[in-house]
Amino acid sequence: MKTVGIVLAGGSGRRMGTAVEKQYLPIKGYPVLYYSLAAMQESFLDEIILVAGADRIEYCREEIVERYHFTKVTKIVAGGAERYDSVANALAAIDVADYVFIHDGARPCLTAEILSRGLACVKEMGACVAAVRSKDTVKIVEVDGKISYTPNRESVWIIQTPQVFAFDLIREAHEKMKMVDKTGITDDAMVVEKMLGAPVYVFEGDYKNIKITTAEDLTTAEEYLNLFA
Ligand code: C5P
Repeated sequence: MKTVGIVLAGGSGRRMGTAVEKQYLPIKGYPVLYYSLAAMQESFLDEIILVAGADRIEYCREEIVERYHFTKVTKIVAGGAERYDSVANALAAIDVADYVFIHDGARPCLTAEILSRGLACVKEMGACVAAVRSKDTVKIVEVDGKISYTPNRESVWIIQTPQVFAFDLIREAHEKMKMVDKTGITDDAMVVEKMLGAPVYVFEGDYKNIKITTAEDLTTAEEYLNLFA
């Protein structure tokens, strides 16, 4: 069995408002991206494909992969305009695999437990995503601010990464996507749902598995990483 991690760091992080993209900002002296690569390096995964902006590939190779001896990183590929383009580039760099674990480089609090739960779930279901139940009531709101409906909280989940797929399934979904309108596709599960109509399941993520989006998230992630240490 061969398992491959794909770590996405090809985005520009426009919401952060800093000159440096969020995945390279430091937490406790290490770039945000370091932490998810470290979790994958120490895990059962056989190989890691890192996706970075074309102008960041050399930096990633020298200052992250070589510096911290992430020996499982076999390729660093250039990202694309959208998240799914970055994923497509990573998938194209894989020859053989049974399962792929697609993870946001901007989620530093990835743990061995999350990866293990993902592996157990994908072996059984073929397509699954890390998720936590929403603690808040969620409302679907129209453009004018009027609430249109309130989904039952029991069925509302907040979706995280890793998103884990049988390699053949996600590759087929991406092949189909090349030929259609991609508007509104925001994660990998949607690619499989929309292109193949295949079922995708949730497995238990972690409330601490946050995505760094704004400056406060860096402080929160630092607190969580201190708990893990
Ligand atoms: O922008 P957002 O926070 O949703 O990005 C999630 C992850 O996907 C980030 O780690 C980002 O670097 C990555 N990404 C990418 N290529 C893009 C857009 C986002 O690799 N074109």
